[in-house]
Amino acid sequence: AKDRGKATFAHYEPGLHALALERLAIRGELQHAIRDNEFVLHFQPTVDLRTETITGFEALVRWQHPTRGLLAPQAFISIAEQSGLIVELGHWVLREACFAAVGLQTALHQPTMSVNVAAQQIVQADFVDWVVAALEDSGLAPRHLVLEITESVLLDDMAGAVERLAVLRDLGVHVAIDDFGTGYSSLAYLSRLPVDILKVDKTFVDNVCDGREGASVTEAIIAMSRTMQLTTVAEGVELPEQAAWLKEAACTMGQGYLWSRPVDLARAHHLMRAGVPR
Ligand code: C2E
Ligand code: CA
Ligand code: CA
Ligand code: CA
Repeated sequence: AKDRGKATFAHYEPGLHALALERLAIRGELQHAIRDNEFVLHFQPTVDLRTETITGFEALVRWQHPTRGLLAPQAFISIAEQSGLIVELGHWVLREACFAAVGLQTALHQPTMSVNVAAQQIVQADFVDWVVAALEDSGLAPRHLVLEITESVLLDDMAGAVERLAVLRDLGVHVAIDDFGTGYSSLAYLSRLPVDILKVDKTFVDNVCDGREGASVTEAIIAMSRTMQLTTVAEGVELPEQAAWLKEAACTMGQGYLWSRPVDLARAHHLMRAGVPR
């Protein structure tokens, strides 16, 4: 037993060290990555649950790293947040997504473009100016842009965030609460927020069909949305049974691997022409 404990320790210690070094390396590389144009956006469609047609896309950032390959946000977003680089990266994502959205529009369909916004972006005094500049430069109408924020964003600087989001919403920009249900929420607090859309977190959607609490939480969110005249989007829909349950429960929209994984811009154009495969 003594030997095994020692072996485990010997194995674990260098692993931790390597991880810390890796994070340090990534932090250094991040600084050049924006300038060197190493980020790309992938786009995942949201669909109307009744018609299963595309209503919009969510922009999800990836890092096309010169040696490490295509990195998912999980590998670098928290590091970008810790170093403050998330502000610059977030600006890039916003502009790129607005330009992509204009390109995806057809004569008949104008999909919305949802962009994830970090807390550190909203606390910037010029956040509104950045959004307005991205809209003006790309030519995207404000009503086609959705800003996705998490509940934790609002707790950091509630008054400032609410004020800025209210200004943008007056311009026509839509606001979504991401991962809804996982943070602190109450009806009273929600009614004070300038919000249009609630995104039901995947952890609830995962077990809507299992008869576990996922179903009752999702039903409660949908009921709350209806009372407040908000749109509900279910995240992480993977199974036809989940889509059927959500449609029956009158959830407005869905997003998940069932319809499409996040795809590059060329494939997003294809989805606009051909529809989601299902
Ligand atoms: P999120 O905003 O909750 O985005 C949804 C995540 O769930 C995406 O992961 C997406 O690929 C994944 N997903 C969608 N449908 C399914 C499904 O059916 N099954 C499963 N298993 N997963 C599904 P991704 O692209 O790795 O992004 C992870 C997180 O990184 C995002 O979570 C978001 O919080 C953050 N993120 C991504 N892009 C940005 C960005 O530009 N700025 C900021 N601040 N955060 C970003
Ligand atoms: Ca999101
Ligand atoms: Ca989400
Ligand atoms: Ca989520």
